[in-house]
Amino acid sequence: MTNLLGVHAGVWIGSWTAENIRTAITRTTEAGYGLLEITATDTSSIDVADLAAELSRSGLAASVSMGLTFDADVSSEDPAVRARGVQRLAQALDLAEAVGAQHLVGCLYSALGKYPGPASAASWDNAAAAVADLAVEAAGRGVAVGLEIVNRYETNLFNETTGALRFLDSVGQENVSLHLDTYHMNIEEPDFTRPVLLAGDRLGYVHIGESHRGYLGSGTVDWGSFFRALHQIGYAGPITFESFSSAVVDPVLSNTLAVWRNLWTDNVDLAGHARAVIEAQLRSVERSAGAW
Ligand code: MN
Repeated sequence: MTNLLGVHAGVWIGSWTAENIRTAITRTTEAGYGLLEITATDTSSIDVADLAAELSRSGLAASVSMGLTFDADVSSEDPAVRARGVQRLAQALDLAEAVGAQHLVGCLYSALGKYPGPASAASWDNAAAAVADLAVEAAGRGVAVGLEIVNRYETNLFNETTGALRFLDSVGQENVSLHLDTYHMNIEEPDFTRPVLLAGDRLGYVHIGESHRGYLGSGTVDWGSFFRALHQIGYAGPITFESFSSAVVDPVLSNTLAVWRNLWTDNVDLAGHARAVIEAQLRSVERSAGAW
């Protein structure tokens, strides 16, 4: 098994207090993961030096994920809103570099939320140009950029792999790849195989989330198909478990993602279970390679 297994900080904590930094790192390590995904919703609230030092001490790898907001949206036709979006991306890249993250991922091309209508051609071009600029800067700092494909209630630019590949072509930068999330795939894609095969070597990051974002195996995601497809394309990048419950509340992210109910209460049990499920799937496809 070559993939680095990670866990989204939202499983552990809802903000980045000094105590929460330590909780997230300790629990990630104890649950057997090698990577902690840091949410950069509000980078100003993070003591970056403390987080970087604690991560370094732990030996964990890190990634940074974020979604833009409607007042700081690089796809906007309003130059002031776009400028704030560019600034937000720059802050997220600074954070990624400071904590030694190799991946900056998420909804980096638009606000994360329900748009009132379809995207204009100008929005598409604005977003592609901003992501291209980000990618050039990120390449100089050794950070890869991953564009997360999210469902129709969370962006209007693209919601499935076909559209995302077109957007990637518009961006036209080497260090930008696609970021697939099974939770979103379950809503928008025809199945769990074709999108992975379509993405192929342009897949750079993976989120593992159940259809209701709770315990893996208790929803409708077709895990066998998804992991077989990852194996088929030789995916070697990070695989990060993402799950949300009202048991852990991030004042911004929880509302953006519509986390209204308890899918779990015991995050230690949840994360340990998820790692076992992911490892079992990876082992299955490795050992039965050639059988299908
Ligand atoms: Mn995700």
